[in-house]
Amino acid sequence: MSSLKFRNLNFGIAETAHPVLHSVGQNLIEIRKATTKVRMLTGTYMLQADKHKFSQYTIDPICLLCHSEIEDILHVLTRCPVLGNERKEYFTPIKQFVTENSPSGTWKLLFNNKLAVTQLILDCTTYTEQLGFKEDSSLQLETLTRHFCFKLHYHRLSLLKKLDF
Ligand SMILES: [Zn+2]
Repeated sequence: MSSLKFRNLNFGIAETAHPVLHSVGQNLIEIRKATTKVRMLTGTYMLQADKHKFSQYTIDPICLLCHSEIEDILHVLTRCPVLGNERKEYFTPIKQFVTENSPSGTWKLLFNNKLAVTQLILDCTTYTEQLGFKEDSSLQLETLTRHFCFKLHYHRLSLLKKLDF
């Protein structure tokens, strides 16, 4: 799972035009959030599954928070039950925004599985055309998903810190 690539490679070669960066502006907090999201998007956000791989399989890939599954990016963003409340709070506006701004039935059609939802969160440009999104909507969605990623990241880290002490 950890080798899955969610970045939309068809987006084009102009990195600066990608909404993950384009929507950030000069705001330092937003830049910090975007950095987290870029790491998640490019597969450089270190999770148990990655530690497992880099430790030559000596470190356990299972999630330290829920102990129920391998911790990869899909687990963190869509499945880990320990992050459930946080996820629900920040995912609701994403679902609402997409539902309100795309043809009726689109959400159910496109995002009926966790992989597609993960893809939407990490790189919404994959779905821009299907959603009928113009640049404005894409940037708004990007802001919502950036917020979502950062909140989960922050909550995950603070829980892991508590485990350490
Ligand atoms: Zn978990």
